Amino acid sequence: MGEILVFGHKNPDTDSICSALVKANLENKLGKNVKAVRLGNVNKETQYVLDYLKIEAPEFVSNIENGTEVMLVDHNEFDQSADNIENLKILSVTDHHRISNFHTSEPLYYNAKPYGCTNTLLFEEYKANNVEIDYKIAILMISAIISDTLLLKSPTCTKFDIDAFSELEKIAGIDARDYGMKMLKAGTDLSTYSATEIVNLDAKEFTEKGKKFVVAQVNTADIDDVFSRKEELAFAMEKEINDKGLELFLFVITDIVNTNSKIIAMGNLKGVVEKAFNKKLDSDDSMFLEGVMSRKKQIAPPLLANLD
Ligand code: MN
Ligand code: MN
Repeated sequence: MGEILVFGHKNPDTDSICSALVKANLENKLGKNVKAVRLGNVNKETQYVLDYLKIEAPEFVSNIENGTEVMLVDHNEFDQSADNIENLKILSVTDHHRISNFHTSEPLYYNAKPYGCTNTLLFEEYKANNVEIDYKIAILMISAIISDTLLLKSPTCTKFDIDAFSELEKIAGIDARDYGMKMLKAGTDLSTYSATEIVNLDAKEFTEKGKKFVVAQVNTADIDDVFSRKEELAFAMEKEINDKGLELFLFVITDIVNTNSKIIAMGNLKGVVEKAFNKKLDSDDSMFLEGVMSRKKQIAPPLLANLD
């Protein structure tokens, strides 16, 4: 039996990278030969975590041999997975997203719960298997929970995430709120990125009712600071629309301090965006969304519901 690969979604966030490392650790402790890999670049927030722990990022893979056994974490939609996912053998999925564009030819383990973070599900998998969580694994897990729930403030955050956070903070022996603010801040530094890099940092592709669209998101402590680059961001979004044949590119700038977002919409489906949020786009194609910070819970569902 060859090596099993475990990976999160394309344009990986902290949860995708940490989930892969954590899941590999768990499965290796259970006697399987599993290696964490990634399908894209490591962002600055995640790099902060890896540097803090002095560990290497999972290896980048662009070409996985057909027939390879894989475990998916933090995603299931094939649009967000390895290019040849149809030809890989999916052994398991651990995920907290809607299930869509997913099918297998053989039975598999599928652990899905509507928690705020994949690592909260993995936390339960450690418990269920009686495997001890060491200091480094605890930091990886708590980092992912902080990232996905924006330090427990997102509407996606559940009681289970909070419980895991508290227990992991004890194992890690750190002040997780202080650590978390530093980690989130590291992720808001967009100064060294080109507009194309920014719109792809945390971009997720969806296909629904035959329509392909992308919702991308960045975190910031100052929306105006990011929005000051609107012209070049819009240009980069138009290019993505043309290159990928998208009906819509929605760019979400989320203020992690005040928990609001400003969105920029480009493409044919601007009307769907207006219907979804019951509000007109401003003349510069932007819209302010009070209290909105979750793509998964507050942005994707109304968009999907208004597609026709
Ligand atoms: Mn993710
Ligand atoms: Mn996640």
